[in-house]
Amino acid sequence: MLIFKTNNELNDWRQQLLSKNNTLGFVPTMGALHQGHISLVEKSLSENHYTIVSIYVNPKQFNDVNDLNKYPKTIEEDIAKLKKIGCQALYIPDNESIYPKDFKTISLNLGGLKTILEGPNRPGHFEGVVQVVYQLFKLVIPNKVYLGLKDYQQCKVIELMRDTYFKSIELDFCPTYREDSGLAMSSRNMRLSEQGKMKAASIYKTLKALSALRDNIAVNNALDYGKHLLKSKGIEAEYVALVNAKTFKLSNKWLSKNNNVILIACYVENIRLIDNIQF
Ligand code: AMP
Repeated sequence: MLIFKTNNELNDWRQQLLSKNNTLGFVPTMGALHQGHISLVEKSLSENHYTIVSIYVNPKQFNDVNDLNKYPKTIEEDIAKLKKIGCQALYIPDNESIYPKDFKTISLNLGGLKTILEGPNRPGHFEGVVQVVYQLFKLVIPNKVYLGLKDYQQCKVIELMRDTYFKSIELDFCPTYREDSGLAMSSRNMRLSEQGKMKAASIYKTLKALSALRDNIAVNNALDYGKHLLKSKGIEAEYVALVNAKTFKLSNKWLSKNNNVILIACYVENIRLIDNIQF
């Protein structure tokens, strides 16, 4: 596996692929790779001539400096995992490569994506995501990018950024990979105790229980019941909300099949976890 630490090395390799008309799949990550990340890389490997993964913990998207400092780093294990599955390239930029001195902030009107759920609860987060993803797309020039639906609102933000600046790049939103318990895999799970992981499995159980209530009780009662279920397991919910999958607008009415998305953000052992279900 080729490992690029500078933009020049990456660019030379990219130009070679372009000249041979080879397709490039891209999986942007912040490292501490788990099977969820690996499932995206495997999909890319099966669909493209080449696949590149990036590992970069983007300081601009952390609204909580403590969360940034505690973000797990397991670079040697990450490299071994990617080599094992035959990934061709890994890009590990430093801050200067992503944000050079002449870096100009990318403007993007996030509209309603900024005003609900992750938007107000993580001020500045999506603006930071837009900056880093823009830079990565510009440097990597991928044909197709693989993103996880676990970060549902982030998928919508990146889709808007793609529609605005990178129309030719294809996006593939991939299903959430879960532990046997149902807990969505996340690098942050590494910071949970075994007991915390068991507790956190209630998040997906709650999502499934709420999805079964569609059309049976009023949406607001269902969402309150979700908060209550979480609380009964000792989990404090930041939000439990229903949005329309097409518009990403909050909804207080059940929607037609596959257009309902319930999203949860909550804290387990002081670690912020998110998950969602579409039905
Ligand atoms: P991160 O390293 O957390 O920034 O995630 C990098 C990419 O992997 C993002 O597109 C995430 O949505 C995706 N991802 C994270 N967790 C999972 C999971 N459990 N299943 C599938 N994709 C995931």
